Amino acid sequence: MRRIKQVSITRYITVYLIALVAVISVFMAVFVSFLADRMIHYDIQSTMGGKIVENMRHVQYVGGKLTAEEDFESEDDGMYFQVLGEDGRMILGKNPKGVDTKEMVGKQKLYIVHQNGREYYAITRVNRRLTKEADSIIYGRALVEKENIDSKYQVVKYISYGSCIAFVLIVAFCSHFLSKRISDPLMQMSKTAETIGEEGELSRRMEYDGKIKELAVLADTNNQMLESVENMFDRQKRFSSDVAHELRTPLTVLLAQCEYAREHADTKEEFDDSIDVIYRQAVKTNQIVAQLLKLNRLENGQIIPELEEADLDEILCSICEDEEWKNEGKVKFRQHFGGVAAKVDVGLCLILFQNIVQNAVKYSSLPATVEILTYTTEENVCVSVKDYGCGIKEEDIAKLFDPFYRADKSRNSEGFGLGLSIADRIVTMHRGRIEVESKWGEGSTFTVILPKN
Ligand code: ADP
Repeated sequence: MRRIKQVSITRYITVYLIALVAVISVFMAVFVSFLADRMIHYDIQSTMGGKIVENMRHVQYVGGKLTAEEDFESEDDGMYFQVLGEDGRMILGKNPKGVDTKEMVGKQKLYIVHQNGREYYAITRVNRRLTKEADSIIYGRALVEKENIDSKYQVVKYISYGSCIAFVLIVAFCSHFLSKRISDPLMQMSKTAETIGEEGELSRRMEYDGKIKELAVLADTNNQMLESVENMFDRQKRFSSDVAHELRTPLTVLLAQCEYAREHADTKEEFDDSIDVIYRQAVKTNQIVAQLLKLNRLENGQIIPELEEADLDEILCSICEDEEWKNEGKVKFRQHFGGVAAKVDVGLCLILFQNIVQNAVKYSSLPATVEILTYTTEENVCVSVKDYGCGIKEEDIAKLFDPFYRADKSRNSEGFGLGLSIADRIVTMHRGRIEVESKWGEGSTFTVILPKN
């Protein structure tokens, strides 16, 4: 299988976020730079235009000649002013060295002049008053070296570049810090999982008391899983020791009886008696093993239910007849059948209802009455088996379905405590459930609830 190169969350988030922010910052810088250029352009244009207007107020047309008043400034803070004639000839003012005034005549907008490796901003304005008085076009012009004027506005650009870099750095720091708040607990959880795996310490739990909801959910889910694994493991351990314990008794009796027969059975009768005991214990052992195998196959999914539409009343009726015959009529079944049918595995349902009906008889003193009620609800079919036997203590009800659990071991030595476990697995396979109601000393009702389909 092709494995994708994996990186840590911190690195993943930091790298991608920095890349994203860097791209956004570049766009921002270009945009800010463009805006700053436009601003600079507009600002220079209006400043220089204003200065020209102001300076031209101090130029008069006296006696057919243009004359500068005292307040006329040829140069002010690195900015040069000239008064030009129609042909571009300089009449008044000052021109930076080497700049040709003639070729710029007529350009009303801000433009750039290159001269001797220097760049100048220049703007020319027609002065209407003087043009009218002199009867030929008179221009006012301002010129300033680009380097001088740009320096004031360049700061805006540098601030924007600087803030972009600072922005990227802040994002890098924050993303690293935030991603660590996710990755650290995750690493902690994986370390806990590793320790549990290595040391088999299933009682250990994952801890997270941070603010991130998803991490809290992850820790909770893992803890729930650990809890069910621990329970499963405990059940398995209990089950193994129960199996050993249950098989030990008949095997011990078997061995003791064999020993007795070998050492002390002198007559054929004594020998036959021993064989009888051995046979009964062997049958018991065989029954336990058979039930265990069935339970095991049900739990491991080796038995796949073959569903078919079946008449549950019919199945129950045949079980009741069997029980009546076995108990020589000492058990009376009151049947209230509602004509229920459901999609079930008939073989498995026979085992299920046999276990429940047999229990109702087994835990009642003969002669006994057992009521069987079948009915349908909107989504389910229900089979209720009610007896008036010994009942079950409240604290025992929850454990009834555990393998080898017997509520009152001393009272009935016939069962192995596997019948209800098998019944429960069968019902679960059919996506149903068993409900138990019981009163100690008064009787019990077991209700099997199965989905209609
Ligand atoms: P067992 O073979 O011992 O009957 P089950 O798994 O069928 O095993 O039942 C488990 C235990 O539940 C029984 O040992 C008994 O204590 C109790 N039990 C089951 N059904 C009834 C019932 N109808 N009335 C009283 N106790 C019952």
